[in-house]
Amino acid sequence: MKPLPPGLRELLELAEADRARDAVVVRVRAETARRDAAAKAAATAATMASQASARAGDAQRASAEASAKLEAGESELRRLSQQMDVAGGMKEFEGLKTRIEARGAQNALLEEAALVAMERAEAAAEVAAGCAADADAAARTAAEVAAECAPRLAELEAQLAIEDAHRREAAGRVPEALLRDYEHLAAKSGGRPVVPYGSGSCDGCFTSFGAQVKTRLAEGEIVRCGSCGRFVAAM
Ligand SMILES: [Zn+2]
Repeated sequence: MKPLPPGLRELLELAEADRARDAVVVRVRAETARRDAAAKAAATAATMASQASARAGDAQRASAEASAKLEAGESELRRLSQQMDVAGGMKEFEGLKTRIEARGAQNALLEEAALVAMERAEAAAEVAAGCAADADAAARTAAEVAAECAPRLAELEAQLAIEDAHRREAAGRVPEALLRDYEHLAAKSGGRPVVPYGSGSCDGCFTSFGAQVKTRLAEGEIVRCGSCGRFVAAM
């Protein structure tokens, strides 16, 4: 069997260490995103519940005001009626009668308004109660998700520390010039930085190589693909 180009085994080991580390990073991100999404949903639900509660309070106050106006109108009507009972003459009687009729018409409007305001207050209270229940449920879910995620995240962080150590060891074995190029490539593109030499082309981007590169590959060199920058080697 043909010997591997110098540094290739180390480069492949580094690529493998990076893949393993990246896989853990992806799981950490997914777990964190899940936890954060639940927390965000709970915060949104809490905001909505507090807004709904404020609206219900406003509606309740408006309803109380409308009821008070109606009560005042009714008490005024009673007062006028009592005056009419003791009216001294026809003229006074007629004047009171007109005022009572006008007051009665106003009271009918006030009663209508009070009814509408009460219905609004009831509806707003119902909405607020629903929002509060939603917020409670979302807060419970967020707490559950956070409790689920915490041990998993702790485990993943520990795993990540191990993968970091592996990665450092692997990087330490790669010849310096190759490592510099590798780091640059990994930062730039990521994913499969080392690819095998296929039938005359880069296995990463499928660009065909010229005769000169083919010769270098055949002689056991690691070359950089001129198109995608990946390391290419005959393996
Ligand atoms: Zn390529």
